[in-house]
Amino acid sequence: MSPSASSFLTSAPADLARAAELLRQGACVALPTETVYGLAADATNPAALAQVFAIKGRPLLDPLIVHVLEQAALAEVAEPDPRLALLAPLWPGPLTVVLRRKSVVPDLVTAGKDTVAVRIPAHPLFREVLRLAGRPLAAPSANPFGYVSPTKAAHVRDSLGERCPWIVDGGACAHGVESTILDLSVPGRARLLRPGPIPLEKLRELLGEIEVVTRAANQQAAQDAPGMLERHYSPATRVVLFPNGTLPVIANLRSAVLFLGRRAHAPANADVFLLSEDGSTEEAARNLFDLLRQLDARGYETIHAELAPPAGIGAAYNDRLTRAAAR
Ligand code: AMP
Ligand code: MG
Repeated sequence: MSPSASSFLTSAPADLARAAELLRQGACVALPTETVYGLAADATNPAALAQVFAIKGRPLLDPLIVHVLEQAALAEVAEPDPRLALLAPLWPGPLTVVLRRKSVVPDLVTAGKDTVAVRIPAHPLFREVLRLAGRPLAAPSANPFGYVSPTKAAHVRDSLGERCPWIVDGGACAHGVESTILDLSVPGRARLLRPGPIPLEKLRELLGEIEVVTRAANQQAAQDAPGMLERHYSPATRVVLFPNGTLPVIANLRSAVLFLGRRAHAPANADVFLLSEDGSTEEAARNLFDLLRQLDARGYETIHAELAPPAGIGAAYNDRLTRAAAR
Protein backbone atom coordinates (compact mmCIF):
# COMPACT_ATOMS: atom_id res chain seq x y z
CA MET A 1 0.00 0.00 0.00
CA SER A 2 1.33 3.37 -0.94
CA PRO A 3 0.01 6.83 -0.22
CA SER A 4 -1.62 8.79 -3.05
CA ALA A 5 0.95 11.62 -2.80
CA SER A 6 4.56 11.71 -1.53
CA SER A 7 4.92 10.91 2.16
CA PHE A 8 7.90 12.21 4.06
CA LEU A 9 9.65 9.85 6.44
CA THR A 10 11.92 11.30 9.13
CA SER A 11 15.20 10.27 10.75
CA ALA A 12 13.25 8.63 13.61
CA PRO A 13 14.26 4.95 14.03
CA ALA A 14 10.71 3.73 13.29
CA ASP A 15 10.65 5.69 10.00
CA LEU A 16 14.04 4.37 8.90
CA ALA A 17 12.91 0.84 9.74
CA ARG A 18 9.83 1.50 7.60
CA ALA A 19 11.97 2.70 4.70
CA ALA A 20 14.15 -0.42 4.95
CA GLU A 21 11.09 -2.69 5.08
CA LEU A 22 9.58 -0.98 2.01
CA LEU A 23 12.85 -1.51 0.14
CA ARG A 24 12.99 -5.17 1.16
CA GLN A 25 9.43 -5.55 -0.20
CA GLY A 26 10.51 -4.15 -3.57
CA ALA A 27 9.32 -0.53 -3.27
CA CYS A 28 11.38 2.51 -4.29
CA VAL A 29 12.26 5.04 -1.55
CA ALA A 30 14.02 8.38 -2.05
CA LEU A 31 16.92 8.74 0.40
CA PRO A 32 19.33 11.56 1.19
CA THR A 33 23.02 11.06 0.44
CA GLU A 34 25.92 13.45 1.00
CA THR A 35 25.82 14.32 -2.74
CA VAL A 36 22.17 14.52 -3.92
CA TYR A 37 18.95 12.62 -3.09
CA GLY A 38 18.86 9.10 -4.53
CA LEU A 39 15.89 7.02 -5.67
CA ALA A 40 16.78 3.76 -3.91
CA ALA A 41 15.72 0.21 -4.74
CA ASP A 42 16.91 -3.28 -3.81
CA ALA A 43 19.83 -3.83 -6.22
CA THR A 44 19.13 -7.58 -6.24
CA ASN A 45 15.44 -7.25 -7.23
CA PRO A 46 14.84 -6.74 -11.01
CA ALA A 47 11.18 -5.72 -10.51
CA ALA A 48 12.19 -3.00 -8.05
CA LEU A 49 14.96 -1.84 -10.41
CA ALA A 50 12.51 -1.67 -13.32
CA GLN A 51 10.40 0.74 -11.25
CA VAL A 52 13.40 3.06 -10.77
CA PHE A 53 13.76 3.39 -14.55
CA ALA A 54 10.00 3.89 -14.98
CA ILE A 55 9.73 6.56 -12.25
CA LYS A 56 12.70 8.54 -13.62
CA GLY A 57 11.94 8.01 -17.31
CA ARG A 58 15.53 6.80 -17.47
CA PRO A 59 16.70 4.89 -20.56
CA LEU A 60 17.53 1.25 -19.77
CA LEU A 61 20.99 1.70 -21.28
CA ASP A 62 21.95 4.05 -18.42
CA PRO A 63 23.40 1.82 -15.67
CA LEU A 64 22.78 2.41 -11.95
CA ILE A 65 25.22 2.95 -9.07
CA VAL A 66 25.12 0.27 -6.37
CA HIS A 67 25.53 1.42 -2.75
CA VAL A 68 27.02 -0.83 -0.08
CA LEU A 69 28.04 -0.31 3.56
CA GLU A 70 31.71 -1.22 3.39
CA GLN A 71 34.50 -2.61 1.22
CA ALA A 72 33.76 -6.17 2.40
CA ALA A 73 30.22 -5.92 0.95
CA LEU A 74 31.62 -4.46 -2.26
CA ALA A 75 33.24 -7.82 -3.01
CA GLU A 76 29.76 -9.36 -3.21
CA VAL A 77 28.90 -7.36 -6.34
CA ALA A 78 32.28 -6.55 -7.94
CA GLU A 79 35.69 -8.11 -8.51
CA PRO A 80 38.06 -6.60 -5.96
CA ASP A 81 40.95 -4.51 -7.32
CA PRO A 82 44.21 -3.98 -5.41
CA ARG A 83 43.91 -0.21 -6.00
CA LEU A 84 40.80 -0.05 -3.80
CA ALA A 85 43.04 -0.24 -0.71
CA LEU A 86 44.65 3.05 -1.80
CA LEU A 87 41.21 4.68 -2.02
CA ALA A 88 40.19 3.56 1.50
CA PRO A 89 40.76 7.07 2.98
CA LEU A 90 37.98 8.41 0.69
CA TRP A 91 35.33 5.89 1.78
CA PRO A 92 32.65 6.20 3.03
CA GLY A 93 32.28 9.24 0.79
CA PRO A 94 31.20 10.73 -2.56
CA LEU A 95 33.35 8.44 -4.74
CA THR A 96 31.90 5.87 -7.19
CA VAL A 97 34.23 3.27 -8.66
CA VAL A 98 33.51 1.22 -11.81
CA LEU A 99 34.78 -2.37 -11.50
CA ARG A 100 34.28 -5.76 -13.18
CA ARG A 101 30.90 -7.04 -12.09
CA LYS A 102 29.99 -10.29 -10.37
CA SER A 103 27.26 -12.35 -12.07
CA VAL A 104 24.82 -11.95 -9.14
CA VAL A 105 24.26 -8.32 -10.20
CA PRO A 106 21.08 -8.05 -12.32
CA ASP A 107 21.57 -6.87 -15.91
CA LEU A 108 19.24 -3.94 -15.25
CA VAL A 109 21.83 -2.47 -12.85
CA THR A 110 24.69 -2.68 -15.32
CA ALA A 111 22.75 -2.12 -18.55
CA GLY A 112 24.10 -5.50 -19.60
CA LYS A 113 27.74 -4.36 -19.34
CA ASP A 114 30.43 -6.46 -17.69
CA THR A 115 31.17 -3.65 -15.23
CA VAL A 116 29.32 -2.29 -12.19
CA ALA A 117 29.55 1.12 -10.50
CA VAL A 118 29.83 0.91 -6.69
CA ARG A 119 29.86 3.46 -3.93
CA ILE A 120 30.11 3.43 -0.11
CA PRO A 121 28.01 6.46 0.91
CA ALA A 122 28.71 8.49 4.06
CA HIS A 123 25.26 9.93 4.85
CA PRO A 124 24.18 8.53 8.25
CA LEU A 125 20.50 8.09 7.27
CA PHE A 126 21.37 6.32 4.01
CA ARG A 127 23.82 4.09 5.88
CA GLU A 128 21.26 3.22 8.54
CA VAL A 129 18.67 2.24 5.89
CA LEU A 130 21.35 0.19 4.06
CA ARG A 131 22.19 -1.61 7.31
CA LEU A 132 18.54 -2.32 8.13
CA ALA A 133 17.69 -3.41 4.58
CA GLY A 134 20.63 -5.81 4.66
CA ARG A 135 21.22 -5.73 0.91
CA PRO A 136 22.89 -3.46 -1.67
CA LEU A 137 20.78 -0.53 -2.87
CA ALA A 138 20.82 0.91 -6.38
CA ALA A 139 20.15 4.65 -6.23
CA PRO A 140 20.34 7.06 -9.17
CA SER A 141 19.51 10.70 -8.51
CA ALA A 142 15.82 11.08 -7.58
CA ASN A 143 14.81 13.32 -10.49
CA PRO A 144 13.28 12.90 -13.95
CA PHE A 145 16.05 11.84 -16.37
CA GLY A 146 18.02 14.83 -17.65
CA TYR A 147 16.64 17.38 -15.18
CA VAL A 148 18.48 19.10 -12.31
CA SER A 149 19.31 16.66 -9.47
CA PRO A 150 17.50 17.07 -6.11
CA THR A 151 19.43 18.35 -3.09
CA LYS A 152 16.43 18.68 -0.74
CA ALA A 153 13.48 16.37 0.01
CA ALA A 154 11.03 18.94 -1.40
CA HIS A 155 12.88 18.83 -4.77
CA VAL A 156 12.08 15.12 -5.02
CA ARG A 157 8.41 15.71 -4.24
CA ASP A 158 8.23 18.68 -6.65
CA SER A 159 9.67 16.85 -9.65
CA LEU A 160 8.61 13.21 -9.11
CA GLY A 161 5.35 13.85 -7.23
CA GLU A 162 3.22 10.80 -6.59
CA ARG A 163 5.47 8.66 -8.77
CA CYS A 164 7.75 8.61 -5.71
CA PRO A 165 5.49 7.94 -2.72
CA TRP A 166 8.20 7.61 -0.04
CA ILE A 167 10.87 10.20 0.70
CA VAL A 168 13.19 10.17 3.72
CA ASP A 169 13.82 13.82 4.61
CA GLY A 170 17.43 14.33 5.67
CA GLY A 171 17.57 18.09 5.03
CA ALA A 172 19.90 19.65 2.45
CA CYS A 173 22.71 17.54 0.95
CA ALA A 174 26.25 18.41 2.09
CA HIS A 175 27.98 18.51 -1.34
CA GLY A 176 25.10 19.25 -3.74
CA VAL A 177 26.69 17.67 -6.84
CA GLU A 178 26.78 14.00 -7.83
CA SER A 179 29.61 11.63 -6.88
CA THR A 180 32.98 11.51 -8.61
CA ILE A 181 33.04 8.47 -10.94
CA LEU A 182 36.36 6.68 -11.39
CA ASP A 183 36.65 3.77 -13.83
CA LEU A 184 39.06 1.07 -12.58
CA SER A 185 37.54 -1.76 -14.63
CA VAL A 186 40.67 -2.17 -16.77
CA PRO A 187 43.77 -3.31 -14.85
CA GLY A 188 46.53 -0.69 -14.82
CA ARG A 189 44.22 1.99 -16.22
CA ALA A 190 42.29 4.64 -14.26
CA ARG A 191 39.82 7.02 -15.93
CA LEU A 192 37.79 9.87 -14.44
CA LEU A 193 34.30 9.51 -15.99
CA ARG A 194 32.57 12.30 -14.03
CA PRO A 195 34.10 15.02 -11.84
CA GLY A 196 32.52 15.32 -8.38
CA PRO A 197 33.16 16.30 -4.77
CA ILE A 198 36.35 14.19 -4.60
CA PRO A 199 38.65 16.22 -6.86
CA LEU A 200 40.95 14.74 -9.50
CA GLU A 201 43.93 16.21 -7.58
CA LYS A 202 43.07 14.05 -4.56
CA LEU A 203 42.64 10.89 -6.67
CA ARG A 204 46.02 11.47 -8.35
CA GLU A 205 47.69 11.87 -4.94
CA LEU A 206 46.43 8.42 -3.98
CA LEU A 207 46.56 6.55 -7.31
CA GLY A 208 49.03 8.31 -9.60
CA GLU A 209 48.16 8.82 -13.29
CA ILE A 210 44.46 9.16 -14.16
CA GLU A 211 43.04 9.79 -17.63
CA VAL A 212 40.28 12.36 -17.84
CA VAL A 213 37.30 11.65 -20.09
CA THR A 214 36.66 15.11 -21.50
CA ARG A 215 33.46 16.46 -22.99
CA ALA A 216 35.32 16.47 -26.30
CA ALA A 217 35.43 12.68 -26.01
CA ASN A 218 31.78 12.90 -25.08
CA GLN A 219 30.22 10.73 -27.77
CA GLN A 220 32.24 7.71 -26.65
CA ALA A 221 32.01 8.65 -22.97
CA ALA A 222 28.23 8.94 -23.08
CA GLN A 223 28.10 5.23 -23.80
CA ASP A 224 30.11 4.53 -20.65
CA ALA A 225 28.28 7.02 -18.40
CA PRO A 226 25.15 8.72 -19.66
CA GLY A 227 25.69 11.09 -16.72
CA MET A 228 28.36 12.38 -19.15
CA LEU A 229 25.81 13.37 -21.81
CA GLU A 230 26.45 16.83 -23.16
CA ARG A 231 22.99 18.03 -22.17
CA HIS A 232 22.06 16.80 -18.68
CA TYR A 233 21.27 18.32 -15.28
CA SER A 234 19.31 20.93 -17.25
CA PRO A 235 16.64 23.40 -16.19
CA ALA A 236 14.02 24.36 -18.78
CA THR A 237 15.23 27.96 -18.77
CA ARG A 238 18.15 28.83 -21.05
CA VAL A 239 21.44 28.94 -19.10
CA VAL A 240 24.32 31.11 -20.35
CA LEU A 241 27.75 30.94 -18.68
CA PHE A 242 30.27 33.70 -18.01
CA PRO A 243 33.90 33.45 -16.84
CA ASN A 244 34.80 33.60 -13.16
CA GLY A 245 35.33 37.11 -11.86
CA THR A 246 33.66 38.88 -14.82
CA LEU A 247 30.26 40.47 -15.44
CA PRO A 248 27.74 38.92 -17.86
CA VAL A 249 26.42 40.66 -20.97
CA ILE A 250 22.68 40.98 -20.42
CA ALA A 251 20.64 41.02 -23.63
CA ASN A 252 17.10 40.90 -22.31
CA LEU A 253 15.12 42.25 -19.39
CA ARG A 254 13.92 38.98 -17.92
CA SER A 255 17.35 37.75 -16.85
CA ALA A 256 18.67 36.33 -13.61
CA VAL A 257 22.37 36.42 -12.75
CA LEU A 258 23.95 33.78 -10.52
CA PHE A 259 27.18 35.06 -8.97
CA LEU A 260 29.57 32.82 -7.06
CA GLY A 261 30.18 35.50 -4.42
CA ARG A 262 29.62 39.20 -3.67
CA ARG A 263 30.41 41.77 -6.40
CA ALA A 264 31.21 45.45 -6.01
CA HIS A 265 29.29 46.10 -9.24
CA ALA A 266 26.23 44.16 -10.32
CA PRO A 267 24.20 44.52 -13.53
CA ALA A 268 21.26 46.90 -13.00
CA ASN A 269 19.04 45.32 -15.67
CA ALA A 270 18.78 41.85 -14.11
CA ASP A 271 17.87 40.12 -10.85
CA VAL A 272 21.02 39.11 -8.99
CA PHE A 273 21.44 35.98 -6.82
CA LEU A 274 24.43 34.81 -4.77
CA LEU A 275 25.51 31.16 -4.60
CA SER A 276 27.85 31.91 -1.70
CA GLU A 277 28.16 34.97 0.57
CA ASP A 278 31.95 34.70 0.71
CA GLY A 279 32.65 33.18 -2.72
CA SER A 280 33.25 29.63 -1.43
CA THR A 281 33.09 27.13 -4.31
CA GLU A 282 31.98 24.39 -1.88
CA GLU A 283 29.03 26.50 -0.75
CA ALA A 284 28.21 27.49 -4.34
CA ALA A 285 28.12 23.80 -5.37
CA ARG A 286 25.88 23.03 -2.40
CA ASN A 287 23.40 25.75 -3.43
CA LEU A 288 23.61 25.45 -7.23
CA PHE A 289 20.83 22.94 -7.98
CA ASP A 290 18.44 24.47 -5.42
CA LEU A 291 18.83 27.93 -6.93
CA LEU A 292 18.57 26.62 -10.52
CA ARG A 293 15.29 24.92 -9.58
CA GLN A 294 13.94 28.06 -7.89
CA LEU A 295 14.85 30.28 -10.85
CA ASP A 296 13.48 27.74 -13.32
CA ALA A 297 10.06 28.19 -11.70
CA ARG A 298 10.18 31.99 -12.01
CA GLY A 299 9.79 32.47 -15.74
CA TYR A 300 13.14 34.06 -16.57
CA GLU A 301 14.16 34.07 -20.20
CA THR A 302 17.84 33.54 -19.39
CA ILE A 303 19.87 32.52 -16.35
CA HIS A 304 23.43 33.88 -16.54
CA ALA A 305 25.70 31.76 -14.32
CA GLU A 306 29.28 32.45 -13.22
CA LEU A 307 31.84 29.67 -13.69
CA ALA A 308 34.12 28.72 -10.75
CA PRO A 309 37.92 28.51 -10.50
CA PRO A 310 38.45 24.90 -11.67
CA ALA A 311 40.27 23.57 -8.55
CA GLY A 312 38.66 21.18 -6.05
CA ILE A 313 34.91 20.83 -6.41
CA GLY A 314 35.03 23.72 -8.92
CA ALA A 315 35.64 21.19 -11.73
CA ALA A 316 32.36 19.40 -10.89
CA TYR A 317 30.48 22.68 -10.47
CA ASN A 318 31.69 23.87 -13.91
CA ASP A 319 30.90 20.49 -15.47
CA ARG A 320 27.28 20.53 -14.25
CA LEU A 321 26.75 24.16 -15.26
CA THR A 322 28.26 23.54 -18.69
CA ARG A 323 25.87 20.66 -19.28
CA ALA A 324 22.93 22.65 -17.90
CA ALA A 325 23.82 25.27 -20.54
CA ALA A 326 24.15 22.80 -23.45
CA ARG A 327 21.38 22.94 -26.07
P1 AMP B 1 23.15 9.04 -11.48
O1 AMP B 1 23.14 8.05 -10.35
O2 AMP B 1 21.83 9.30 -12.10
O3 AMP B 1 23.92 10.28 -11.14
O4 AMP B 1 23.97 8.35 -12.63
C1 AMP B 1 24.95 7.42 -12.37
C2 AMP B 1 26.03 7.51 -13.36
O5 AMP B 1 26.91 6.41 -13.17
C3 AMP B 1 25.48 7.43 -14.77
O6 AMP B 1 26.13 8.37 -15.60
C4 AMP B 1 25.85 6.03 -15.14
O7 AMP B 1 25.99 5.86 -16.51
C5 AMP B 1 27.18 5.85 -14.43
N1 AMP B 1 27.46 4.43 -14.32
C6 AMP B 1 26.76 3.53 -13.65
N2 AMP B 1 27.23 2.28 -13.89
C7 AMP B 1 28.27 2.40 -14.74
C8 AMP B 1 29.16 1.48 -15.39
N3 AMP B 1 29.07 0.16 -15.20
N4 AMP B 1 30.09 1.98 -16.22
C9 AMP B 1 30.18 3.31 -16.42
N5 AMP B 1 29.37 4.23 -15.85
C10 AMP B 1 28.42 3.79 -15.03
MG1 MG C 1 21.25 11.50 -12.36
